[in-house]
Amino acid sequence: MTPGPTNVPEEIRKKMAEDVIHHRMADYKKLFSDVSEDLKHFFKTKQEVLTLTCSGTGVMEAAVVNLFSKKEKVLVINTGNFGQRFVEIATTYDLDVVELKYNWGSTYDLEEVKKIILNNPDLKGILMTHSETSTGVLNDIQSVGDLTKDTDILLVIDSISGMVVNPLEFDLWSLDCVIAGSQKGFLLPPGLAFVALSEKAKKAMERSNLPKFYFDLKKYIKFLKEKQQNPYTPAITLVVGLKCACDLLLKEGLDSIQTKHTKLRKYLGKELIKLGFEYFVKDEKARGNTLVAVTHKKIEDMDKFRGIIDKNGISIAGGQGNYAGKLLRIGCLGKITKIEIDRTIEEIKKVLV
Ligand SMILES: *Cc1c(COP(=O)(O)O)cnc(C)c1O
Repeated sequence: MTPGPTNVPEEIRKKMAEDVIHHRMADYKKLFSDVSEDLKHFFKTKQEVLTLTCSGTGVMEAAVVNLFSKKEKVLVINTGNFGQRFVEIATTYDLDVVELKYNWGSTYDLEEVKKIILNNPDLKGILMTHSETSTGVLNDIQSVGDLTKDTDILLVIDSISGMVVNPLEFDLWSLDCVIAGSQKGFLLPPGLAFVALSEKAKKAMERSNLPKFYFDLKKYIKFLKEKQQNPYTPAITLVVGLKCACDLLLKEGLDSIQTKHTKLRKYLGKELIKLGFEYFVKDEKARGNTLVAVTHKKIEDMDKFRGIIDKNGISIAGGQGNYAGKLLRIGCLGKITKIEIDRTIEEIKKVLV
C-alpha cells in the first residue's frame, strides 16, 4: 500500500518469468514498436514516447541534461521532496536556478509563477512535479502550460507518480517534456522510465551543451525511428511486462481507471478521518489520486506505528525529509482496490485500540 513501487498483477509477473528474448532481433523490434505506440495513449500525444532503463531520477536527470545549456535560467516550482530533487539536479549541472518553494502539503501559487516569467525574460524552462509523492499534492500543470505555450520557455513535468491514475494531456496542455516511471501507476516493477518531448523541446535538444552519454535522448529517438530498438541493452524483461501492462490498462481505459481511483482515494480518506487522522493536504482541490497522506494528533511516532502494520503484512510509506515519522502515506494507485483498502483500515484499527 505504498505510493510505489506498487503491486504487480500475477498475469504480468508470469509474463516476465518467461525466457529472455534478444533486443536486436525481430521479435523485440515488434514488441518495442508496439509498446512505444501504446505509451502515446497514456501521454495523450502524437509525439514518440521514449523508454529508458533507469529509475525515475534517471529520467529527471535526462530531461535536464538534454533540454538546457550551462548557466541557463530555469524556474523550479518546489512543492516537496521531488521538487527539491529537480533543484538539486539543475544545480548539479550549473543551471541558474530560480526557486518557488512552498510548504509541504500545499500546491503552488500561479500568480507567483506569472511574476517570475514577467520579471525574467531570459527564463528557459519551468520544472515542476505533477503528483508530489512526498505530500499527496497534485499540482495543476495545465495552467502553467497556458503560460508557457506561446513562449520559448520549456515546461518540464515530473509525472512519475502522477500518470495513469490522474489526468494528463501532453499535446492539449502544451507540455514540452513529461517523464514517468514504471513502478508507480504502470503496474510494473521499477526499472523503466518514459519520456515524451514536444517539437519545441526537440529544438532545444539540438542546442543543449550539457554533458550526456547514456542519457542522450537524440540517440533514443534515432534508434526508435530507424531500428525500433534502444541504443543500449534495455531491461528486456520489463519491456515484455510493459506490453502486458499496457494491454490491461488500455483495455480498462484511462477514464475509467481515473474515475475508479478518485473514488478509492476519497473512500480511503474518509475511512481514515473516521479514525481520527487528518489530511496532510488541507485543500481538497489540491489532492491527487496517487496517495493519501495523513497525520494523527495522538500518534507520536508514525514510523513505529507503520512498523507494526508492516509486520502484519501491510506496507505503508512514512513521511520524507522534515516529515519523517510524522506522516502516513498510503498508496491508491496501481492495482489497489477497495479490498486492499479495507484490509489496510482493519490493520490500522487494530493498532489504534
Ligand atoms: C518515485 C518518484 C521519483 C523517482 O524516484 P526513483 O526512486 O528514482 O524512481 C521522482 N518523482 C516523483 C514524483 C516520484 O514519485
